[in-house]
Amino acid sequence: MSIQKTIPTLCLVAFSLGLYGQTLREIPCHTDEKVREQVANDPSLLLKQVESEEKIYKHIHHTQFKAGEGCEVRIIPTVFHIIHDNGSENISDATVLEYVQKVNETYRFQNIKMEEVDTTWRKVVVDMKVELRLAQIDPNGINTNGIVRVQSSTTANAGDNVKTLSMWDPKKYLNIWVVRTISGSTPSSTILGYAYFPWMESSTNSGIVIRSDVLNRATLPHELGHYLNLYHPFEGSCGSEDCRVTGDRVCDTPPSSGQNFGCPRGRNSCSNDSPDQPDQIENIMDYSDCRTIFTRGQKARVDYTFEQYRKTLISRDNLLATGVLDSNETLGEPIAAFQSDKNVVCEGGSIQFTDFSCTEVANTEYKWLFPSGVPSIAYEPNPQVAYANAGLYDVTLIITNKSGTDTLISMGAVRVAPKVASLKAPYRVDFELADFPYEAWGIQSGNGDSWQRTTDASYGGAASLWIQNFGKQVESSTYTFSTPPIDLSTSQAHVLSFDLAYALQNAGSREVLEVYAVDACRGVELLRLSNSGASLRSITQEMNASFIPKADQWKNIVVDMALAKSLTAASIEFRFTSNGEQNIFIDNLVVGSDWPMGLEERMAQGWDCWPNPARDALLIQGPGSASSFSWKVIDLYGREVGLEGEGTYGAQVSTSSLLPGIYFIQIYSGENVMALRFAKE
Ligand SMILES: [Zn+2]
Repeated sequence: MSIQKTIPTLCLVAFSLGLYGQTLREIPCHTDEKVREQVANDPSLLLKQVESEEKIYKHIHHTQFKAGEGCEVRIIPTVFHIIHDNGSENISDATVLEYVQKVNETYRFQNIKMEEVDTTWRKVVVDMKVELRLAQIDPNGINTNGIVRVQSSTTANAGDNVKTLSMWDPKKYLNIWVVRTISGSTPSSTILGYAYFPWMESSTNSGIVIRSDVLNRATLPHELGHYLNLYHPFEGSCGSEDCRVTGDRVCDTPPSSGQNFGCPRGRNSCSNDSPDQPDQIENIMDYSDCRTIFTRGQKARVDYTFEQYRKTLISRDNLLATGVLDSNETLGEPIAAFQSDKNVVCEGGSIQFTDFSCTEVANTEYKWLFPSGVPSIAYEPNPQVAYANAGLYDVTLIITNKSGTDTLISMGAVRVAPKVASLKAPYRVDFELADFPYEAWGIQSGNGDSWQRTTDASYGGAASLWIQNFGKQVESSTYTFSTPPIDLSTSQAHVLSFDLAYALQNAGSREVLEVYAVDACRGVELLRLSNSGASLRSITQEMNASFIPKADQWKNIVVDMALAKSLTAASIEFRFTSNGEQNIFIDNLVVGSDWPMGLEERMAQGWDCWPNPARDALLIQGPGSASSFSWKVIDLYGREVGLEGEGTYGAQVSTSSLLPGIYFIQIYSGENVMALRFAKE
């Protein structure tokens, strides 16, 4: 039966190819085939791709202060070369203008209203801030309308051969060749267009080739996407690893097992993404008939592509030289922003600051203020500043262009670490003192929110630290607080302990708390704890409402710090990676211990105290083997509080005189000294 079916099918295919070529499925984009072709000729292109991707990855995922990047519309001077043989491919100037307009509407998110975007994608859809403008001055300085016409039979089955007929300097212009048909490996070709990625292009092939009859479709925005370094969402099929480094290297375009044709809404061809989302058939970089959007992740790649490959193209000087910008036209009010190569430096070290403001460098006045830095004032875009003394310092950037002035004050942007810390372990803090962050503490926020002191909840005492995180619209935002540098070598027990309260919003919660010991002067960053899911939560119940813990909804976490014990100036850094799921609270941070044994030994088997937290009284219960013992209560700072006594198997402690807070009961039993920890409400 299969043979009978096979033979007619083959005949039908052959028949179609011969006579009905136009009805064959179109190949919307030939870019991937161009990549294969170019790489076959020159395998070193793959190395260029890897290098380019590495830079993008580092830029997007490992730098700070990106606020001003890509905020300004990037204008691309453009030339259309219409290669025609006096057929319908010789489209009119008006048609070109109309399509440029359509491209711009697509890139500025004016092609569709937010309400028309599928609700799944409303969080990620974006204005790409890209605009094409037809060149008004050609490479010879002569006026032009940005449209060049060349009569040639190569308009049929065209390829890179048309580029030799007419091409303008691709560093200064985007070249678009309009042709009748495009050649390819497929017979009776229906290829609609192709472009070169920036990492594989040369001065003789950069640009876009497109069929004249598809300019009203999504093909030109799609090919422009490749020119700006975007891959297809189905690149690498479903992929299996990190979305930042495989597939299209963009995390807010879910993977797709292959090209989507038609408009298969709701199709979900890959389930290995987390959370699992349907194919984004609406993405311009797919092949569907309902392509309309770009995403924030794609914009981040494009933003860096302008920086990496197309800086000259969009520079103010080039816009003026190509006539697409009036000399009186300003590109908007400036927005100050900067990056630094590091935010912690050892005393005596220096930091490189890089301007990332939303403004044209050539037309901007800069003024930087670096208290305690050398220089303390700078007037250049990218200054290098040395810091002699340990401390936490602000950085101020004031930029002025002809449209206005903007000032950015980044509080505590620079932390200069001492070689030997003045604080020594054991070090304790219960966050009872107001005015957090305390002197020399570091705070970095993700999206305007940060770790803050609160009196809404605490474990003992009246206050703790928290991030008001429930329901926030963030994705992988990192919130950090760090202690001043502490000499860890002075502690006898190499542990860190703190109290934590956190609830999972649902079973799929992905938020993470990490604790590091960071010694900037030794270049050491030791991850000592990484908790998420069950290891992070302090209550088993899932909570889909803002979590404010009660006294019995906290847990104590003890972290082994033996690896960090020789560091003489280590900041303890808490990093919380948020997806806006649930609030997190931290209280009673204790770094090291001044007791004669490690905390693990002190938390000896068989001893307990309750109720905990205590109100007026507390019972100490020893193991059966402990006949008689003596005890005394000390506070977080190791001070005696005037409560002590003796017991046999157990004892009662009157706690009514204690202020709310965290305390320890030191127990002396024979040769052993142990401690129990409790909270007074
Ligand atoms: Zn494509």
